[in-house]
Amino acid sequence: NEEVNIISGALELKKKTAAEIMTKIDDVFMIPIDSILNFETMSEILKRGYTRIPVYDADRNNIVFLLFTKDLAFVDPEDNTPVKTLCEFYNHPISYVYEDETLDVLLEEFKKGRSHMAFVRYVNNEGEGDPFYVILGVVTLEDVIEEIIQSEIVDE
Ligand code: ADP
Repeated sequence: NEEVNIISGALELKKKTAAEIMTKIDDVFMIPIDSILNFETMSEILKRGYTRIPVYDADRNNIVFLLFTKDLAFVDPEDNTPVKTLCEFYNHPISYVYEDETLDVLLEEFKKGRSHMAFVRYVNNEGEGDPFYVILGVVTLEDVIEEIIQSEIVDE
């Protein structure tokens, strides 16, 4: 019955981690910070259809901004606006979670409403150099909700 489904869904959330449900970094649509918002770039962004687009500097592991597709609403492709200008203007907050963070904690974070997308990362402290973060992927509220719905469907 429904109560059992909801409870088992909630229990699943405590067992699953961000890394298990994330969209892997290689599959994430991102743009470089030095992009120009000309017709070509804007068409590509709109064609992909994502709400949020990570913006990186030089290396895809180095996320510097989050661009929302709706930020493009007042941009004229004729103006050749640098992506950087728009990113600095809106400056949306960027959230991070560790790869082993469980989904119940993620859901609580998303409910606080700061951001509905988080970057999944871990600390690499192997080797001689200083430890550094490695970004493994992105996770959104939608990914967590999908897990809840799936477990309900499976249980029936
Ligand atoms: P959207 O509103 O852009 O469709 P959602 O938050 O509804 O994004 O998430 C839908 C799915 O797309 C999720 O699996 C999420 O991890 C993935 N996703 C979100 N943004 C991106 C992106 N920029 N590149 C690749 N996958 C993304």
